[in-house]
Amino acid sequence: MKQSERVLVTGAGGFIGHHLCQHLVAKGYTVRGVDVKKPEYEESPAQEFELLDLKRRDDCLVATREIDHVYNLAANMGGIGFIEANKAVIMHDNVLINAHMLEAARLQGVRRYLFTSSACIYPGYRQESPDVEPLCEEHAYPADAEDGYGWEKLFAERLCRHYREDYGLETRIVRFHNIFGPKGTYDGGREKSPAAMCRKIAQALDGDTIDVWGDGEQTRSYCFVDDCVEGIHRLMLSDYAEPLNLGQDRLISVNELVDIVAKIAQKQIRKRHDLDKPTGVRGRNSDNTRLREVLGWEPQISLEAGLEKTYDWIRGQLAARGLLEP
Ligand code: NAD
Repeated sequence: MKQSERVLVTGAGGFIGHHLCQHLVAKGYTVRGVDVKKPEYEESPAQEFELLDLKRRDDCLVATREIDHVYNLAANMGGIGFIEANKAVIMHDNVLINAHMLEAARLQGVRRYLFTSSACIYPGYRQESPDVEPLCEEHAYPADAEDGYGWEKLFAERLCRHYREDYGLETRIVRFHNIFGPKGTYDGGREKSPAAMCRKIAQALDGDTIDVWGDGEQTRSYCFVDDCVEGIHRLMLSDYAEPLNLGQDRLISVNELVDIVAKIAQKQIRKRHDLDKPTGVRGRNSDNTRLREVLGWEPQISLEAGLEKTYDWIRGQLAARGLLEP
């Protein structure tokens, strides 16, 4: 069914943005994708795709022209190795993107605006052991966000709230917990742990040893990208204006993650723990009570099913690039 709203997805050349364009086009929306780069692995399904730099106010005004709903996903970001080593540029770029995008949306009469925040806004003092209490939305304060990236996300959440309160722009805020899936970055330094593990195991031979950052006992929950885009769309259409978690609530360690991928790959894999590498917080899980209440829904796809698709895709990419052992 054709939808009447005209939709903008920023960060449409990136991992989640690309999947979101696919999801919204399939639902009948007319979608404009914007990014500084085109999607790496296939053409964007968006009906329009514009290369714009959203750090620039004028480009944000161009991006938001004749748009009803904005999904603002554009951000300078990456896995823990990248965000730990690039705090200044991450904060600089993302504060400009978020401030200019909100103001452009207001000036152009956008009706709804969704901001993609992160579990990185939650305080370090609540994430100090592997068997942590799941994080519910209220736990954000008193604030002690992840240095750099997390503080900017928390600031942008506040900015959304003030644009809603002061100007009546209907803002929605989603806090992602480790989204993974095919067509995401899997090498080059910006990749996250599920993609990195799939790549390392795909390139390993049966019985090989792979590097794992830290002692591998740090815990996380991982959400497959198809669930993520379904949740984003549901939140955009809801009346709920406060920040909402979007993730899975099955807590596993990085060591367990490696074992699951190894099983999918049907390889015996040993781990060499590199204690000098950054690992982020010790444990992090999502409390999905509010998610279920607000959306009447929660992520459905199991970690094993999602990892199988992700592993197959990364393996296929490496094979196509001649980067697998014969
Ligand atoms: P991604 O890096 O694949 O996508 C982000 C996109 O933003 C990239 O394509 C990048 O080119 C684009 N971008 C950066 N600077 C830009 C600029 N100045 N103008 C226009 N486009 C620009 O990341 P992703 O995983 O798809 O994440 C999407 C959003 O979700 C981001 O806001 C991210 O912070 C947030 N998030 C993601 C996760 C996750 O697990 N993937 C977790 C928490 C939050």
